[in-house]
Amino acid sequence: MTDGLALATRGLQKRYGARPALVGLDLSVPTGVVYGFLGPNGAGKTTTMRLLTGLIHPDAGTIELLGRPFGRGDRHRLFEVGALIEQPSFYPYLSARENLRSLAAAGARTSRSRIEELLEMVGLRDRARDKVQTYSLGMKQRLGIAAALLSDPRLLLLDEPSNGLDPAGIVAMRETLKGLAASGKTVFVSSHILGEVQQLADVLGIIAAGRLVREGPIEHLLEGEGLIRVRVAPAEVVAARAILDAIVPGTTSKAEAEGGWVSISIPPDRAAEVNRTLASAGIYASGLETGNDLESLFLELTGGDDTANHEGTFFGAAGSGTTAAGRDAGSGTGGDA
Ligand code: ATP
Repeated sequence: MTDGLALATRGLQKRYGARPALVGLDLSVPTGVVYGFLGPNGAGKTTTMRLLTGLIHPDAGTIELLGRPFGRGDRHRLFEVGALIEQPSFYPYLSARENLRSLAAAGARTSRSRIEELLEMVGLRDRARDKVQTYSLGMKQRLGIAAALLSDPRLLLLDEPSNGLDPAGIVAMRETLKGLAASGKTVFVSSHILGEVQQLADVLGIIAAGRLVREGPIEHLLEGEGLIRVRVAPAEVVAARAILDAIVPGTTSKAEAEGGWVSISIPPDRAAEVNRTLASAGIYASGLETGNDLESLFLELTGGDDTANHEGTFFGAAGSGTTAAGRDAGSGTGGDA
């Protein structure tokens, strides 16, 4: 059942006192992909990560890592598995290089050149001699990623790895992780940030209330989740919505709070038709974007969990009328209409 999988869980359950955190989680993570583990706050992502690394133990269910069962007493196997869970902890009075060397001394043999390669990869080479206590949050996070990669693991488990990274750091990390998957390694990344997962992952697992609600290659999950957004003058929003609703009977357009943006869930290849139909009614769009509506799928599957609203990362964008460049960057084919 779990052949060819780098990571599998079956019926995984965990509760904290009376509160259930996982209620029977079945994950199937193929080898050689970036797997995005997506869920709203409190869904059970960190609990899963902690179980996968033996920090806590399941109440029921099984875990298989790299084709072999993983249970109590198997933490030594984590040399084959790199992990970055919660805040990475380092000796604050040692430098990045010294921290990596001390980790290497305690674990699997690692050459000095490997440490230098990793410092370069995560962009810390110039600061590698500075004490970690002088590092920013993002720099500590980069060092955490380097530490997770130290033993050149076949499977990498990263909990919210973009925490604290600046945009350039996020792009660099994405390239690094995709490169690792292209070389045959498996990268399991948890996140609650849709746009990030959409750009990074090959396969997606969506968790809600301690249970997997959808899993599969991202392009399959997004089939039928097309989205077109147009920006019109604020005074034309009502008329534009009526026209858009008529293009696809049964579909209701959405108006965003600001900026005159209106969106409708139809396939991206109908963008020209949308533009033409609006123009022939005398409404000229000043912006047009196409993409996939992972947000709608996510809200539908997770029951629109409003705890996620507190984060304000991606849910904030939907209602804030951000510009074409500011929203869904890279996920669509946006441009001026
Ligand atoms: P987030 O995106 O906010 O980090 P998450 O998906 O990682 O959330 P978990 O941290 O795994 O979610 O939490 C799952 C559930 O278990 C939540 O209801 C949470 O309140 C609860 N929980 C987590 N850790 C503990 C703990 N140590 N003691 C009691 N309850 C806990």
